Amino acid sequence: MAKHSFETEVNQLLQLMIHSLYSNKEIFLRELISNSSDALDKLKLKTLTEDEFKDFDYSPRVDIDIDKENNLLTVADNGIGMDEQELIQNLGTIAKSGTKSFIENLSGDAKKDSNLIGQFGVGFYSSFMVADKVEVVTKKAGEEKAYKWESDGSGEYEITETTKEHSGTAITLHLKEDASEYADTFRIESIISKYSNHVPFPIYTTKEKEVGEGEEKKTEKVEEQINKADAIWRMAKTDLSKEEYQDFYKQISHDSQDPYFWIHTHAEGTLEYHNLFYIPKTAPFDLFRVDYQPGVKLYVKRVFITDDEKELLPPYLRFVRGIIDAEDLPLNVSREILQQNIVLEKIKKAAVKKILGEMKKKLDKDREGYEAFFEQMGKALKEGLYTDYENKDKLLDLMLFKSSKREGYITLKEYKEQMKPDQETIYFLTGENESMVKNSPLLEKYIQDDIEVLLLSDEVDSVVMPMVGEYDGTKLEAINSSASDDKVEEKTEEEYKGLVASLKELLGEEVKDVKLTTRLTKSPSCVVYDKEDPDFAMQQMMAQMGQGDMANVKPILEINPDHEMIKKLKDSDKETQKDIADIILTQAKLNEGLKVNDVSSFIDKVNKFVGKAL
Ligand code: ADP
Repeated sequence: MAKHSFETEVNQLLQLMIHSLYSNKEIFLRELISNSSDALDKLKLKTLTEDEFKDFDYSPRVDIDIDKENNLLTVADNGIGMDEQELIQNLGTIAKSGTKSFIENLSGDAKKDSNLIGQFGVGFYSSFMVADKVEVVTKKAGEEKAYKWESDGSGEYEITETTKEHSGTAITLHLKEDASEYADTFRIESIISKYSNHVPFPIYTTKEKEVGEGEEKKTEKVEEQINKADAIWRMAKTDLSKEEYQDFYKQISHDSQDPYFWIHTHAEGTLEYHNLFYIPKTAPFDLFRVDYQPGVKLYVKRVFITDDEKELLPPYLRFVRGIIDAEDLPLNVSREILQQNIVLEKIKKAAVKKILGEMKKKLDKDREGYEAFFEQMGKALKEGLYTDYENKDKLLDLMLFKSSKREGYITLKEYKEQMKPDQETIYFLTGENESMVKNSPLLEKYIQDDIEVLLLSDEVDSVVMPMVGEYDGTKLEAINSSASDDKVEEKTEEEYKGLVASLKELLGEEVKDVKLTTRLTKSPSCVVYDKEDPDFAMQQMMAQMGQGDMANVKPILEINPDHEMIKKLKDSDKETQKDIADIILTQAKLNEGLKVNDVSSFIDKVNKFVGKAL
């Protein structure tokens, strides 16, 4: 007998499970059955592809055994099983780094944490919500030795060698006193039909049944299959109810909410496949982690192949959950083959087209729902604008924007519809956060002229927007770049020549250039970036990532010749001009959220003038 300690994060998770306020304890059964189903999938693939397992007598199944008297519940499968090392690895640690860091960052507030945990599915460890002791007896397919793992969830577990006839895993829960409802056949059946009806393998329970007549009458244990065990994605749409679709989604996604919508397709002809995709309402917790878990599983002719292939759909659709079941692929496809397989490439292409098309329909018909969806997944979707050139136009039509002229969201199409008759450009402004772009002085002229400006503040925007170029024949332009300003009148130019030259000299290396501008109405100054340079938000992002010497990209200072302060500055002495030059540059930078190197000297200068004015 060998004692082992759980990894720290497992202990944390177990504590949470044991003392959980998690209201939905019954999901432990879904998690165990889902693990069994995976184990059956894995062995099935082996029996179909590996010589060693070719003659394996195999009819995959899950058996639920209830011992009411002793308050025991057993979930058994005849799947792949585990050897000793795998037991330690799988049931003593948390393998997925995403989940691990999620647990490390839990707040310690049991109620909050339980809700969070409900979002990603807690797996095997959820057994401890209802059991005070768990035993796992398992034998790996093709091997001789069997092992028993047991634990009461308090820090340690034991592994002993044992015997077991068939390969597979049997998990026995010693139910807590207050969880005896799970030793009830009726209750278990109803949970299974709720969460696991479409697990594609039969799930059996044994039941007491009266048989015979009169004298001969007696009770007998009979076996009964309680789930449908069909591959739902291969069924006809007309044979499936909304609830069945929703339940299957919850089974594969671990999401407790209903999905936003789903897309079920069956293609025949040159290419045959069944796809069932779900679009969730809420972003998966790992959406922006590099090591996110992909949401689409690949099957070939009903046989599960992998759930760990990130390229089944393009990464910008990584929030999509579901199944691709291809008819024309070999079962023993390797990862390398998968990634350059023409059949799969074609399926993927058609799938993307379909998904984007359905999203567009939602945008047109269910604006409110789509807006809520976009708030969750929009940032990921935007990545497609520069990674999926082929679908760029379709994606542009799916984008929602905040704007300077209205509350809520606007599409590019709607923007174009309200453009001024002589307006030739779609204007946008990118920046660090929403309130900063909303309040930028750069908007002043556009507001005055009643021209709408799209306001963008996601990090990805400064990467994406400059690359968009045009939408439906109309060019897009950033209003914080030097490209987008009109020339001031020649007379004004002449009048301010001296001041501009003087400011250039005084500010020296601080700026790339000093110019007069017509884009301001209320503010004395603003900074813009040279149209040859990356935009400000992008510059800051790159500097943060330590890429390039972005601190050296200098802004262009623009001054407003109609502003009282600038008018007076023209006739001031050099010393005053120097101080004011620093002030107007610094405040313009602050307005755009740029880094200011010497804040205290800025404050000193402002105070000097405030003092004078008093
Ligand atoms: P997840 O299923 O999300 O990976 P779990 O904690 O539920 O996380 O399970 C951890 C691992 O333990 C699984 O990935 C699998 O390798 C193994 N495992 C769990 N249950 C079984 C089972 N019934 N048969 C074989 N392996 C299993």
